[in-house]
Amino acid sequence: RPWDVRRKVRTTCPYCGTGCNFDLEVIRRPIAGEPEEVIGVASAVDAPVNGRHLCVKGRFGLSFIHHPERLRRPLVKKEGRFVETSWEEALNVVAERFQAIQSDCGGDAFGVLASAKATNEENYLINRFARGVLGTNNIDHCARLCHASTVAGLAAAFGSGAMTNPIADIAKSDFLLVIGSNTTESHPVLAQKLLQAIGRGTPCVVIDPRKTELAAAATEHLAIRPGGDLALLNALAHVIIAEGLQDRRFIEERTEGFEELQAAVVACSPEWAASLTGIAPEVIRETARRYARAERASIFYTMGITQKRTGTHNVMAIANLALLTGHIGKEGSGVNPLRGQNNVQGACDMGALPNVFPGYQPVGDAAVRAKFAADWGLDTAELPAKAGLTVGEMLEAALVGELKAMLIVGENPVLSDPDSAHVVEALQRLDFLVAVDIFLSETAQLADVVLPACSFAEKEGTFTNTERRVQRVRQAIDPVGQSRPDWRIVVDLAAALGRPFDLADPAAVMAEIARLTPSYAGISHDRLDREGGLCWPCPATDHPGTPRLHVERFTRGKGRFHAVHYLPPAEAPDEEYPLVLSTGRRLFHYHTGTMSRRTELEAIYPEEHLEMHPDNAAHLGLTDGDWVRLSTRRGAISLPVRLTEGIIAGTVFTSFHFSEAAVNALTNSAVDPVAKIPELKVCACSVEIV
Ligand code: SF4
Repeated sequence: RPWDVRRKVRTTCPYCGTGCNFDLEVIRRPIAGEPEEVIGVASAVDAPVNGRHLCVKGRFGLSFIHHPERLRRPLVKKEGRFVETSWEEALNVVAERFQAIQSDCGGDAFGVLASAKATNEENYLINRFARGVLGTNNIDHCARLCHASTVAGLAAAFGSGAMTNPIADIAKSDFLLVIGSNTTESHPVLAQKLLQAIGRGTPCVVIDPRKTELAAAATEHLAIRPGGDLALLNALAHVIIAEGLQDRRFIEERTEGFEELQAAVVACSPEWAASLTGIAPEVIRETARRYARAERASIFYTMGITQKRTGTHNVMAIANLALLTGHIGKEGSGVNPLRGQNNVQGACDMGALPNVFPGYQPVGDAAVRAKFAADWGLDTAELPAKAGLTVGEMLEAALVGELKAMLIVGENPVLSDPDSAHVVEALQRLDFLVAVDIFLSETAQLADVVLPACSFAEKEGTFTNTERRVQRVRQAIDPVGQSRPDWRIVVDLAAALGRPFDLADPAAVMAEIARLTPSYAGISHDRLDREGGLCWPCPATDHPGTPRLHVERFTRGKGRFHAVHYLPPAEAPDEEYPLVLSTGRRLFHYHTGTMSRRTELEAIYPEEHLEMHPDNAAHLGLTDGDWVRLSTRRGAISLPVRLTEGIIAGTVFTSFHFSEAAVNALTNSAVDPVAKIPELKVCACSVEIV
């Protein structure tokens, strides 16, 4: 209508960690009481990461903002049914129950899940609320399910657990190695830069059990058996050393522990690895040579590497390759874990982890505790010194009655965590569960109180993308219904518990973050508004940020080699469960589908299926489209089968986006002993026609 007023608001995508910027197109109609509405998305040609490019989720996946199922008022469960109530009553109920549990059982009776979907400022406040108000380090978030092994593995090898190079460096590499990453579906705009590099002739080797779109476009696709990663990575190191391809000067000057690695991989010949990976010895040798001989080589990986019981060791084995060859700390040379959700990097940075305050400052360090306590107006003794529980450990503690209450902000463990029957049972054992979300997710349905949150379009703040770039999130419209931004909800909860935070808005929260977090010390909303984005570490207000890590020295001083050894997956196929089940993501949906399944994308991709190789289907007497029962030792789901030669025989694959075929009812909760990340990528399964 000609009298409608339109405006654009620059913000950051709420889906994947690529961190694309775009303009939300907002319409205001001059009719009293009619709210503003987000009606579309326009490319921002000057966006630092993506330019004018957006994927289908950023472009067409935002109508969840105004979806009729958005939570508009607080809900309190009475006699098993949710009843809408006022904020005042909901906050009072939470405060009363939290205070009773705190005085009866102490702070460690609480568990808190922060959110990779929430802003940095919100995650920071959730961390402050857990530690400073509830008195517990039992805080975690979904990084435990995706890159906890990266944080642990790269921190041990380099001193910081993040992507070492900017996305723009893809164009500067002359060899690309992508392992365990379905980049074209999980990080589509970033994948476009890989595809462009391949198009320009840059060699790219993709290692994956499935022939993904990127694998099909790559110079070479190595179809690895699920679980063979560490054998392959050690064999690559073996070849590099055996053929004298290592960078001796780099190893001498900038690393330590080479002899330990050399001894560990001496027996890891390509012939040994071939039987564990399904990759021919000569292909392994050639891949090692190409990586080592390249002038500037980069490795990219995601959850095919990290979601294993050897996840931390897999990451260390990748770091070993970079340290052996000196492919780190240089333009176009680095180790690049692609972070999954839009702000999973930021949630880690902001201390949504059980062992560290913001900026990875250890909770066990008395000086660090004293610093935070002084700023928060507490005695140092009020901040717990012992590392808290991971999400998996919280659920175990709930099952045995040690954890009494949880606050879950914007996460959906009922669909995202392994062995979901176990997750539901644990959450039902709690005395009190509070969920903060924009929809009544599968997890929120189990809560006693549900607090309605704002979407990204209704609040101010920042997200930190996969390349450590802190970018602004800007409010485009008023909160939908009576929803409140997560930061406001946490401030209100602290006040209701008698521990008010003196913070007026997200800009003030960022100022507090900068004061207490050395790597964010130079970052402010004003500066981000002026400069567009800053990569941490940014230690001072006149520091330009650090797009490339470890240039002259590693964060830990010298790079550390690690001797890591192959272990088979926790569950091997057997007579009863003869196939391997692997899980992942699809282009048109995101995570547990809470947002993407309430958009136009649902019409494009309304149903999940199971990918299976035709040889396995023939053996089972299946044809394309047959409905099958997919079972593991933990449960069974039904879904149609789709036959494809793009998956290795013996392995089947589906996504975890669909509650109707909730694959995490089947996945294995066996964990990596270091990072406590579950082995979501491999378990034994059987398939039978329904
Ligand atoms: Fe959003 Fe990721 Fe797509 Fe970019 S690539 S538009 S950040 S989902």
